[in-house]
Amino acid sequence: MSLEIVTIPCRTDNYAYLVHDEESGAVAVVDVPDAAPILKALAARNWTLTDIFITHHHQDHIDGVDRLKAETGARVIGAVADIHRLPALDQAVREGDRVRIGAVEGTVIDVSGHTIGHVAFHFPGAVFTADSLMALGCGRLFEGDPATMWASLQKLAALPPETQVYSGHEYTAANGAFAVTVDPANTALAERVADVARARAAGEPTVPALLSLELATNPFLRATSPEVKAQVGLAGAPDAEVFAEIRRRKDCF
Ligand code: ZN
Ligand code: FE
Repeated sequence: MSLEIVTIPCRTDNYAYLVHDEESGAVAVVDVPDAAPILKALAARNWTLTDIFITHHHQDHIDGVDRLKAETGARVIGAVADIHRLPALDQAVREGDRVRIGAVEGTVIDVSGHTIGHVAFHFPGAVFTADSLMALGCGRLFEGDPATMWASLQKLAALPPETQVYSGHEYTAANGAFAVTVDPANTALAERVADVARARAAGEPTVPALLSLELATNPFLRATSPEVKAQVGLAGAPDAEVFAEIRRRKDCF
């Protein structure tokens, strides 16, 4: 069993992902900011889309779903909690539900926080997190409170560390500029910020990123660290409270 994953830049800074099960030939897309670049990527590989996975209801993740479905007949999978504000679903899912791409099975994780009803899709070796856990960051809290997002991030943090995290936007350089303000002594973070600058200068995406790297460098996951707690003036405070303070600081950075 092996999944081939193709990153497709859409709009100004969104990413969609094609996920190809080489054994069965099934091909899924995760989020559809825009149908055209996805149809082009499919045609270039002679792939037929079988499944459309939706992470959350924001326009920049669903705008192209109806056109893509009309042109390919692919099944649409999204959260039952958001059924009233998503394109028509063929499979409505909730936390713990199984999903599949051909022969490959995945699991649905509720990662509410950015929105209520945001889901992530976890397949062997890969998790699609969109605007929950992001490279060096996490999504803004438009609908959820800090405690909800913190609980969601903890679920993702508990996945195998060798999991690749596929998030929804190219925000990593800006996230890194903030990260160093709350975690200035972290040498792994400093190295990553330099790597990100090199990649962006070369026009390369900075996602996916290994979960182990996020655990070591993402300031939001680092809310558990005594150094970060002290840096934001909350030495000894509960992790969730420190996360809330880091999120508050990022909002006005
Ligand atoms: Zn969003
Ligand atoms: Fe987004």
